[in-house]
Amino acid sequence: MRLLLVEDDRMIGESLRQALRLEGHAVDWVYDSAAAKATLGSERFDLLLLDLGLPDAPGQPARPDGGLQVLQHLRGRGETTPVIVLTARDALGDRVAGLDAGADDYLVKPFELDELLARIRAVMRRHGGRASTALVHGALKLDPATREVSYQGQPVLLSAREFAVLEALMQRPGAVLSRAQLEDRLYGWGEAVESNAVSVYVHQLRKKLGPEVIQSMRGVGYFLSRA
Ligand code: CA
Repeated sequence: MRLLLVEDDRMIGESLRQALRLEGHAVDWVYDSAAAKATLGSERFDLLLLDLGLPDAPGQPARPDGGLQVLQHLRGRGETTPVIVLTARDALGDRVAGLDAGADDYLVKPFELDELLARIRAVMRRHGGRASTALVHGALKLDPATREVSYQGQPVLLSAREFAVLEALMQRPGAVLSRAQLEDRLYGWGEAVESNAVSVYVHQLRKKLGPEVIQSMRGVGYFLSRA
């Protein structure tokens, strides 16, 4: 998935970014409310991880409701992108304000990374209206919770990036995803994109799943064969 992380604490942000990338997510990271609003205005994300205490702009002190303003801005434009609020403050009033402003979930720092990952999956599951986390397409099954993939009942071992490509295709069965859309899912800002990375991962997936599962549309992109 492509995530936007809004966090002014560089140490927390860096460790979150690294951990989420290891899970195969593409993570973009901004440090203040203005950058968050600008980014959300021009790009699309699957999920927003939002710190509450944020400066308005670089070099300014953090304000306690900086993140709430970003959330209100986003919801005010009718955007339904799922939002998980991350905050050091656990006062009841802050939680209520955050949820009232349209947050999907709340996590109080410090938190365990495993808990954040589980909350991300739960929020995405609710957002997608699915009762179970597993994605199923014909004989292909992918479970983001356990990171297990099986094809025709046999387990298939995938790397984090192969998994990310397959997950993107399975979330939009029937849609053709362009190389650029798949690159967005694999890479965040500041990560060098290898020019043929997507073709390499698709090639590896075809070796593991058989040549017919992922189809190419020349010059357009990739899609899953009909289930
Ligand atoms: Ca903060």
